[in-house]
Amino acid sequence: MDAQLARLDVDAASLRHDRADATADDEHDPEGSTLSGEWQRVEALRHAASSEREEVLAALARVEAGTYGICVRCGQPIPPARLEARPMATMCVACASAVS
Ligand SMILES: [Zn+2]
Repeated sequence: MDAQLARLDVDAASLRHDRADATADDEHDPEGSTLSGEWQRVEALRHAASSEREEVLAALARVEAGTYGICVRCGQPIPPARLEARPMATMCVACASAVS
């Protein structure tokens, strides 16, 4: 569990770093840029980083609530191997495949 928590911290820290880089792009004026395609790509990346950050924050909230590693659908523990592969997983393999 400690190793998983440390990994979440690392993920959150790297995402914060990514967000800091994205924020720096606010210095640019999108209206004055001729690289509109590049700008759209940056916006898409920023959106992806934002939603992933929410997953990390949700996972950290679940750690605080003591529900991290518990499937939100069936209430069974999520296998450690799955959490290792997907630290932000909220459902066990069976439930995740059932809802997707
Ligand atoms: Zn489940």
